[in-house]
Amino acid sequence: MEVKTIIGLEIHVQLKTKSKMFCSCSSEYFNDIPNSHMCPVCLGLPGALPVINKEAVVQAIRVGEALNLDINSKSRFDRKNYMYPDLFKGYQITQFEFPITTSGYVYINVNNGDKGSKSKKIRILRAHMEEDTAKSTHYSDHTLLDGNKAGVPLLEIVSYPDMESSEEAKEYAKKIYNIVRFIQASDCDMEKGQMRFDLNVNLKITKKEGGSVVKEYRTPIVEVKNLNSFRALERATLYEEERQLEEFRKNAEIAQVGNKVTRGWNDNLSKTFFQREKEESNDYRYFPEPDLPPLYLNKEFIDNAKKSIGILPDEALKILEDKYKIGSNIATTIVEDRSYYNYFLSELIKYKGSPSNLANWIAGYIVGLLNESGKSILDISSGMLAILLNLEDANNLSSLKIKDILKEVILENSDLDKLINDNIIIKDDNMLDTTIDNILANNKEEVLKYKSGKDGILSYLIGQVMREMQGRADPSSIKEKLLKKINSI
Ligand SMILES: [Zn+2]
Repeated sequence: MEVKTIIGLEIHVQLKTKSKMFCSCSSEYFNDIPNSHMCPVCLGLPGALPVINKEAVVQAIRVGEALNLDINSKSRFDRKNYMYPDLFKGYQITQFEFPITTSGYVYINVNNGDKGSKSKKIRILRAHMEEDTAKSTHYSDHTLLDGNKAGVPLLEIVSYPDMESSEEAKEYAKKIYNIVRFIQASDCDMEKGQMRFDLNVNLKITKKEGGSVVKEYRTPIVEVKNLNSFRALERATLYEEERQLEEFRKNAEIAQVGNKVTRGWNDNLSKTFFQREKEESNDYRYFPEPDLPPLYLNKEFIDNAKKSIGILPDEALKILEDKYKIGSNIATTIVEDRSYYNYFLSELIKYKGSPSNLANWIAGYIVGLLNESGKSILDISSGMLAILLNLEDANNLSSLKIKDILKEVILENSDLDKLINDNIIIKDDNMLDTTIDNILANNKEEVLKYKSGKDGILSYLIGQVMREMQGRADPSSIKEKLLKKINSI
């Protein structure tokens, strides 16, 4: 028996725009009072007319271009009718028959056994615009609804069922996340619900005898809705693979394609649970949205939106690796965010040392400080890192001191010039000589141990001198002078 997993993903991304999809309510609602970003249009009150948000259309085209989708010069909005509490209007405006973009693809890296990894093409069927629904918070005996999210522009990116494992699904989701964030079409903050995954998964089970196929089965397609982390996506896939196989073993003849079901995901229990037989599209009674005209886009509008995406993360990665000789892990961290990449390029203009040293500081230290402080790299004053590293390269500042300074400036907004002044290496030979003489006089036993072959003692002595100099000496001069003096004892 051969079992193959078939996975397709629908990814919902909130597009970064100032206002909602069809009205002028602000779409920056995070932490605001519930139901304070609402108007007659988002509520669907009689007589209120929706207007298409131009900025959302531009963002949809930008994502489309980045995902190699064709941008359709004519698309249309449709009305999807359903009665859920999270949709106050009783319908959702979406694109059904004529989406704004169709037929694209991305490449992901997949496991290739002993040969490491290989590139795999994942096809994208379409990406269409629609409006988000309200947020529901469930309690044991009631549910609270917050309409601030209702009407925020969404792009739904629908893949073909081209993925065959939980790793591939996760890689694909990460790829979309990385691209959409990098072109700044969305922040994709999953904790804020700005990116969610609907997983479609089933199994193809082939029974063979003597090498030839006897019978082929497919388990019913299960849709697991609203997964809000890569980890949940991965675990839900693994859970469904096991559950469906077990179900098939118990119930092989009934398990046939056609009985699509929707299941929810319980993150605490790491389990999916039955919700309902999935609606077919005719259950939604789609019809062309009567309050909106078809969306016609001219070539110039489309071209301008396409051009505005600039560089894509894969291209940026290649520049970092090939042109600047930066290691793959560090480069990958820098292309996680367009602002990190821009920061690297702008500091590089002012930094005289090696690009990979600069990249190491950004990816290995600054990103960590930013995560700790909740600040953005845009909050860091331009040129600061370059100034500090130039001082280090000229032996005027130790790397330990640079770490302290960055911490104080980024976390506590301390004054950079004063910190540099207070920490700059003192190039005073007499002072260093006196300090070393004192340390040697106070550590006679250690000196003897060192002379008898305990090499490790040297770094202890260097440390003592450095401490006495309050970290403001050049370690290589300390070492040189110490050795000279010890050898002459
Ligand atoms: Zn509104």
